[in-house]
Amino acid sequence: MDINKIEHIGIAVKSIEESLKYYEGVLGLKCYAIEEVTEQKVKTAFLKIGDVKLELLEATSDESAIAKFIEKRGEGVQHIAFAVNGIENNLAEAKEKGIRLIDETPRNGAEGLNIAFLHPKFTGGVLTEFCEK
Ligand code: ZN
Repeated sequence: MDINKIEHIGIAVKSIEESLKYYEGVLGLKCYAIEEVTEQKVKTAFLKIGDVKLELLEATSDESAIAKFIEKRGEGVQHIAFAVNGIENNLAEAKEKGIRLIDETPRNGAEGLNIAFLHPKFTGGVLTEFCEK
């Protein structure tokens, strides 16, 4: 595997606007981008803390994985994203090691990243994202 660092932490929220009252209003962080990712039926908001980002995720449809996550588990940490070198090689290696992939091939994520998810049943319950510029 060729993993660089934690790129971001994904947090499922009911409302980005409401959540920013905490992240900006209380913690004093700054949201520098809000972007809709149509393919994933989510709206995302990004905040930066040093070298790591928080990605707030709000569902734009009941079909969205975020809507289902909140329905089952409520708001909260939804995934951890690792920046990797060579996303396809990393996916192939994870698969070889017996990890089920949600995405066999990378797809488009927010901020122009290529992203792919590993199934949380195979990663100790933590939905894991690989991403690469
Ligand atoms: Zn993410």
